[in-house]
Amino acid sequence: MADRATVLIVGAGPAGLVLGNLLRANGIDTLILERGSRERVQTRARAGFLGANSARVLTEHGLAAGMLRSGQSHDTCAFRDAEGEFELNYGELGRGEVHTVYPQQHLVTDLIAEYLHRGGRIRFDVTVTEIDAATATVRHNGGESRGRFVVGCDGSNGVSRRALPADLATRHARDHGIAWLAVLTEAPQSMTAVTYALHDNGFAGHMARSPQVTRYYLQVCADDDPAAWPDERIWSELAIRMRVDRFGPLREGPVTERRMVRLRSDVVDPMQHGRLFLAGDAASLISPSAAKGANLAIMQAEVLARALTDAVTREDEAALRAYSRTCLPRIWRAQEFSHWMITLLHGPAAAEPDAGFQRVLRRARLSSLRDSRSHQDFFAENYVGI
Ligand SMILES: Cc1cc2nc3c(=O)[nH]c(=O)nc-3n(C[C@H](O)[C@H](O)[C@H](O)COP(=O)(O)OP(=O)(O)OC[C@H]3O[C@@H](n4cnc5c(N)ncnc54)[C@H](O)[C@@H]3O)c2cc1C
Repeated sequence: MADRATVLIVGAGPAGLVLGNLLRANGIDTLILERGSRERVQTRARAGFLGANSARVLTEHGLAAGMLRSGQSHDTCAFRDAEGEFELNYGELGRGEVHTVYPQQHLVTDLIAEYLHRGGRIRFDVTVTEIDAATATVRHNGGESRGRFVVGCDGSNGVSRRALPADLATRHARDHGIAWLAVLTEAPQSMTAVTYALHDNGFAGHMARSPQVTRYYLQVCADDDPAAWPDERIWSELAIRMRVDRFGPLREGPVTERRMVRLRSDVVDPMQHGRLFLAGDAASLISPSAAKGANLAIMQAEVLARALTDAVTREDEAALRAYSRTCLPRIWRAQEFSHWMITLLHGPAAAEPDAGFQRVLRRARLSSLRDSRSHQDFFAENYVGI
């Protein structure tokens, strides 16, 4: 016997869980199928910076209790290079919006609890292997599930993308040829601001996560092995790139996670076919250079929840038909900003014939951001906004 639900959702990340919660609030029968265990998804540390639209969505839909209790408001970022450091208080620039720092695994934990409280069904340890977009049928290791609609929220390596016909959906993709070692440390933040350090050894980044945990990024070779980066090497390279001799020491602590992140971006267009819709990383992967992925996922979940609610409760599918057209311009703006951040943060490889030209160009880009108020307003609007 196949499970049945009005809306089947594949994946219990931010996209699937926000969508599930919004649909349940409208009384729509939903079933989430998730490959990982509950413990696994509730402990997977990834994003932390929620933009203003995400905070609004979570607050307006009754999903913000944890974020409001322990999230930290964040309004400043700093850039360091050989010429010095400058800070941008983006909370006083652009639209005056700020980030809320709330670790993704805490948000996912809250969203699962609230989804179950709203009567939502979720099956963990279920790996979806095939989706039929015409009939909204999903095959998995536990058998088969059927819905009126199916939503793929299974990330960029999931199966839902593959269920879109190759001749109808285009995947616009770019590998930026850059890799980061993403590090979590049991250490309080060293600076009050998100700090981006530009150095000839490569980029280094510092981002708050919670009072006890700080995330750092180090640009590394694409084929580097995280095991080749013991704690001492990480801290000593961070000290060089963060120029601690000029700006003061880092607050060190044990490294609790180190993983490689390749900077890749892609957009699937259209994000829907038949009864299947994609949301979150499944629809568009964005490099973490501008902290946009979870925020895009939440934006799409809200748009799709409204459209599915119209379809189910009023038999009106106009908003569903427009789903890709509604989301893609916002996705591409985020991609454009993220791409701009990548070119700002990373120098050219030494072997590139015009490396010298590119280096000076990057310095000009940074000085424009430091000196031009209109450039700063534009930066702030795009940095926090979707
Ligand atoms: C190091 C790092 C830092 C980041 N920092 C930020 C940040 O500060 N701000 C920000 O906005 N974004 C950030 N991001 C990006 C953000 O984490 C992702 O964009 C976000 O998780 C996307 O949510 P999602 O729900 O689309 O996908 P995911 O969170 O990837 O969830 C997909 C779910 O689908 C499940 N799944 C996959 N395949 C199957 C299958 N076949 N069957 C069943 N289930 C399946 C997976 O187990 C997973 O639980 C960061 C990412 C990384 C890696």
